[in-house]
Amino acid sequence: MMNHQHPHRFQCRCGQVTGEVADTHSALHAVCYCRDCQAYAHHLGQADAVLDALAGTEVVGTHARHVSFTGGTDQLACVSLTGKGLLRWYARCCHTPLANTGRDWRMPYAGLVHSCLRTPGGEALGPPAFGPVQMHLETAGAKGGTPPRLGVWKQAKALLGFMPRIAASRLTGSYRRTPFFDGAGVPVAAVQVLSPAEHARAIAAVEATA
Ligand SMILES: [Zn+2]
Ligand SMILES: [Zn+2]
Repeated sequence: MMNHQHPHRFQCRCGQVTGEVADTHSALHAVCYCRDCQAYAHHLGQADAVLDALAGTEVVGTHARHVSFTGGTDQLACVSLTGKGLLRWYARCCHTPLANTGRDWRMPYAGLVHSCLRTPGGEALGPPAFGPVQMHLETAGAKGGTPPRLGVWKQAKALLGFMPRIAASRLTGSYRRTPFFDGAGVPVAAVQVLSPAEHARAIAAVEATA
């Protein structure tokens, strides 16, 4: 359909880690208000830069095969809040969150965190490639107000257009094309699981926010 679209660039705030996301028209644009996303932003010391006025994190979800790194992969780091949580990829150099993925590479969802899709000044990198926010996730976790209502049907439709393509990759093997896992399905950076003390500190920071 719209294959003429240029990939959208992404980079960490200091510019060492760079990459591109292709096939932008197939991405799912969402805001997640869950406590874990908030705890992660606090853990990185990035709550002000990452969380919106209602403590939401804007993410652009896509198939991991559309994501590629063009530089700075030596700065790629990976943390998980718990032994079972999502893998949360960030730039070690400047603590910019980059993307969240599952632990199992056969479910190749990658949620790019908005902070790497913009310049430090807040402008989109490259042409405005992603449409308006289609989904609000975990809205009960919002702080200081209620996120604007998005139609339930509109959200369901967005998800139904998105998830089957991710799930189908189990059959086609396309999950193997990912920059986050090696050819054996092992994460390309060592996964640091937060210690109980670090986890408690991050959750406390979330709870201290009105
Ligand atoms: Zn950086
Ligand atoms: Zn979340």
